[in-house]
Amino acid sequence: MTRTEVLVIGAGPAGIAAATAAAENGRQVIVLDDNLNAGGQIWRGATVEKAGSSHQGNAAKRRAMTRLQQSGAQVLGGRCVFSVEASGTLQTLQETGSDSLVEQFQFDQLILATGARERFLPFPGWTLAGVFGAGGLQALVKGGYPVAGKRVIVAGTGPLLLAVAAHLAQDGAAVSSVLEQATLAQLAPFATSLWANPAKLVQGARYRGKLWKTPYRTGSWIIEAIAGSDGRKLGAVRVTNGTRTWEEPCDLLACGYHLVPNTEIAALLGCTFRGAFVQVDDAQRTSLPNVFCAGEPTGIAGLEAAMVQGEIAGLSCAGLIGTSLQKRAVVERAFARRMEKAFSLRPELRSLPRADTIVCRCEDVAFGSLHGRTSWTDAKLQTRCGMGPCQGRTCGPAVEYLLGWRPVSVRQPLFPVPLQAFCSHDERVEINQLKEKV
Ligand SMILES: Cc1cc2nc3c(=O)[nH]c(=O)nc-3n(C[C@H](O)[C@H](O)[C@H](O)COP(=O)(O)OP(=O)(O)OC[C@H]3O[C@@H](n4cnc5c(N)ncnc54)[C@H](O)[C@@H]3O)c2cc1C
Repeated sequence: MTRTEVLVIGAGPAGIAAATAAAENGRQVIVLDDNLNAGGQIWRGATVEKAGSSHQGNAAKRRAMTRLQQSGAQVLGGRCVFSVEASGTLQTLQETGSDSLVEQFQFDQLILATGARERFLPFPGWTLAGVFGAGGLQALVKGGYPVAGKRVIVAGTGPLLLAVAAHLAQDGAAVSSVLEQATLAQLAPFATSLWANPAKLVQGARYRGKLWKTPYRTGSWIIEAIAGSDGRKLGAVRVTNGTRTWEEPCDLLACGYHLVPNTEIAALLGCTFRGAFVQVDDAQRTSLPNVFCAGEPTGIAGLEAAMVQGEIAGLSCAGLIGTSLQKRAVVERAFARRMEKAFSLRPELRSLPRADTIVCRCEDVAFGSLHGRTSWTDAKLQTRCGMGPCQGRTCGPAVEYLLGWRPVSVRQPLFPVPLQAFCSHDERVEINQLKEKV
């Protein structure tokens, strides 16, 4: 059992800012993340550094990481939090090669900075090889997956599409289209409001600059991914703008429908929610004593919001109030609301899956099997939808959008944990010997 005053779950921008602020103000801090390295989604370190790549040297990341290192906060990577008790303990799983290890941590204060994940919506062909989540493909490319010379279409909704398309183009991909399902009329007020936020405007312009040859088609969405001549891999996509339908050839499709917050730990603890998000006050306090939350679980608002909220949460743990930061957080919250409205999903996306389109990829449940089911629990019991290793993280938000069913409960372990992880050293040695024999 490791003890600490402040435990931060998530080493993305929010968790880094929170840990730094708390540690700089005298608190003993441990940060846990299931990724090996700190950085979260946006600052995910390139595992294969490419010489001369301008993805390196992100100044904000460098500043944040340096401050974190100097703060004295301890970052423990490769630890996935799978259970937590409001009384002040949690358990992590660490997988090292063939072995798995469960560790326990005890804390006085907890900061949840667990970020968000992509929302996927099923459409015919979305399980073909070559179809990726937008952020998923970007993460693979950051890890060394080669896209140079490949024809890529980026589709779905949200500001992430431009960021991903720019990243892929910079890595040599031929990005032939960016397809945004939101209409120009939906996006226009959001785009105009960016004049009040020069940093975001510059960022958007920078992305667009890297994509000057690539059309950004609003009000357009993928209705089908079509296999190439081998029948297995993606060869083209069928696209519509509601009045016209056309096909575009491609090798890869990067498709995601904005983000959904990672709120399972908050739900497990019993924090109060505001819609899909964890409810927090101006000091990032949740409804539970000594539990704070920062970044995407409190609202999808982007990098600046995550850093500001993280810093407020860290200061709060040290008994301090960041008044000027709180004013910035209010501005960022308004930005999040505008973004949510701009990228709201069109109803036509609900009619994309056919009866044989897979919805739950872990358990191979087709959309047709959900007909006649009345709720998420009914679907789980009768079809095993959401019962696989991802525990509904992928199909849950899709089913919620398609059929309006909200998951009813979150249970621990949040992630599959091998029984071996709970065994003593001797038992593990015995299990490994048995495995070798088998
Ligand atoms: C796939 C993806 C790609 C993105 N790419 C970009 C981009 O290119 N540009 C851009 O501007 N924005 C991007 N974003 C949005 C960006 O992540 C946010 O704007 C912001 O940076 C979020 O910061 P955060 O600290 O709240 O969350 P994150 O950066 O998501 O960090 C959360 C961290 O918590 C960890 N975590 C979660 N649950 C657990 C658990 N149970 N146990 C241990 N650790 C856990 C995660 O591993 C992660 O490292 C992306 C988002 C996603 C989902």
